[in-house]
Amino acid sequence: MKKECEIVEDLLFGYQDGTLHNASKELVENHLISCEQCKKLFNEMKKDKIDNKKEQEEEIDYLKKVKKKINKKNKWIIIIGIILGIIILFNIFIFTYYYSEAGKVKIYLSDNITEEQKENIENSVTNIDGEAEIKYYSKEDSLNQMKEKFKDREELLSGYNKDNNPLPAYFVVDTEIENGEKIKNTVESLEGVEHINNIGDTNPYMFMLSEIIVEFNSN
Ligand SMILES: [Zn+2]
Repeated sequence: MKKECEIVEDLLFGYQDGTLHNASKELVENHLISCEQCKKLFNEMKKDKIDNKKEQEEEIDYLKKVKKKINKKNKWIIIIGIILGIIILFNIFIFTYYYSEAGKVKIYLSDNITEEQKENIENSVTNIDGEAEIKYYSKEDSLNQMKEKFKDREELLSGYNKDNNPLPAYFVVDTEIENGEKIKNTVESLEGVEHINNIGDTNPYMFMLSEIIVEFNSN
């Protein structure tokens, strides 16, 4: 290898990048015209550079694709997270509401019930759960509640009054959920009892559904 070839070889990178001073640039250019060996080397360097660039572009492309994929995946994770969140909140709401009502037993009474029969029912409940809270609602209370519930559609109840009242009087017993069934079974057969609604017996989802239907109908 001639001495000039060695110098030019050192300068070739700078020549390729365009960072050489004019004098060095001229030296390289003149040498490349006359020296096949250095010209060949320079051409190989050019080819390498192109290949490198291609490789880099392919890598960038690949990285972009991966990023896109990750973004797509993240989007789905967020959507699924939101859906799960809504389901969980909905369930918390249903079960909270259910358990606030589930310990309640409604005992609907026949119209011709006597004071003695009423007392008998209350005593039976107290025998099962001495702590149970028992509230009595008269036929008139029932009608007023219904009128309050349907106050936007008064015409539905317009024919009903104190003397023409189809709604029953009832007891609401507030007890522990596990006592509900016992109270129902004991009181069911007593004189003056029409029927019993033990919310603790109902599936929470069905209970919620029936509440929604009642609410929807009253609006
Ligand atoms: Zn040379």
